[in-house]
Amino acid sequence: MPELPEVHTATNSIRPFLINQRIRSIHPLNNYNRVFATHSVSRLNDLIVNQKINRVWRRGKFIVLNLDSGHLLFHLRMTGRIQPKIFENDNTKHFTAKICLTNNTNIYFKDYRKFGRLYFYRSLALIESRLGPEPLSDAFSKQYLIGQTKSKKRMIKPFLLDQSFIAGLGNIYVDESLWLSKIHPKKPAFKISSQKLTALHSAIQFILKQAIEHNGTTIINFTYGENSTGAFGDKLNVFRRTGEPCRRCETNIKKIYVGQRGTHFCPRCQRK
Ligand SMILES: [Zn+2]
Repeated sequence: MPELPEVHTATNSIRPFLINQRIRSIHPLNNYNRVFATHSVSRLNDLIVNQKINRVWRRGKFIVLNLDSGHLLFHLRMTGRIQPKIFENDNTKHFTAKICLTNNTNIYFKDYRKFGRLYFYRSLALIESRLGPEPLSDAFSKQYLIGQTKSKKRMIKPFLLDQSFIAGLGNIYVDESLWLSKIHPKKPAFKISSQKLTALHSAIQFILKQAIEHNGTTIINFTYGENSTGAFGDKLNVFRRTGEPCRRCETNIKKIYVGQRGTHFCPRCQRK
């Protein structure tokens, strides 16, 4: 599932095809009307036709298109991708939406699992009210992390996955950050020392920056452009390394379930 670095990469790769273009129309493909989460296709066309795309950016795991009036948002969910054309190897059955631009090009939403969605909002207030700070922004400070965890009895892993606390993290980068800062994924948030939380804060930022530099992780279904893959997979220390030796202490990496999510950790480095 694409997380912050993958959505960041996808946003950068599609931006040149969208920026400063005007929308002619938007359509579902393969009769997949459910791709439009907030409006019917006819209402959506009324709202966005002839509008110019002024900015293409990322917020949490959303790709946001600022229009003259309102915002069009994509959420890729499991396998969604946005592409500037249908490539030769594409199975046309997997496409869920198409945006026609007035420069006579099209933008396609392809989604094998079909959980990806498109949203239109006049203002981003609703989305903002549901999203915590960006992990690479000043708003996500050490003080914020320490202050927010102080009274939380929740286990740290589900807490970090909660988009209303911090936006953009998912299974891969949470497991990696907890390994780097030597915190057990099931540890109740309030029991983690300020020292460890400071390490966690640095770990989250360090790993996300590295992953962005490597265009994300391609382990499960993430590609961008015409089949480019993210190169961060080689750098992973715990995710999908069950049974392999920990790169710090050689103990075998274990997989457990934390709040129904497959979780990878080192039982020696990350004691509860
Ligand atoms: Zn270890």
